[in-house]
Amino acid sequence: MKPSWYVIIAGCGRLGANVAGMLSNMGHSVVVIDRKESAFEALPIEFTGFTIHGDVAAIEFLREAKIHQANMVLAFTNDDNTNFMVAQIAQRVYHIPRVISRVYDAGNLALFHEFKIKTLTPVLLATGALNKVIHRYMEESG
Ligand code: AMP
Repeated sequence: MKPSWYVIIAGCGRLGANVAGMLSNMGHSVVVIDRKESAFEALPIEFTGFTIHGDVAAIEFLREAKIHQANMVLAFTNDDNTNFMVAQIAQRVYHIPRVISRVYDAGNLALFHEFKIKTLTPVLLATGALNKVIHRYMEESG
């Protein structure tokens, strides 16, 4: 049987809410934190975890989420500075074994990598996927 993890997601927008639903579906315990209460309306029906209304830049909300117990922390707000800070706290202060940060501006990637933070850059993923589709179209058209 696969282990069940305790996962904290900072930011419950388009990315965080979807991933929260996916992780709940996989049987993990999920806590999502967002500073906008209305953001939780985006959570899909599969979500079975907890929500915390607060600004993740304030350490008290990460503590309230019991960050010291987390198996994974996902810094998924739409602000690179905030994500960098959350990822650093998770990695360096709480020694969370799995930390992934969304990077909005690909120009910031080098900084995240310098600090050994794993990243997810939606604009690069979309470009990569589109590249594949366009190549297929070109092959099909001869
Ligand atoms: P999206 O770009 O749709 O994935 O949304 C990003 C989410 O991150 C939004 O719901 C924002 O309210 C949330 N967010 C941005 N900054 C913070 C912050 N400092 N603390 C908590 N949530 C945040």
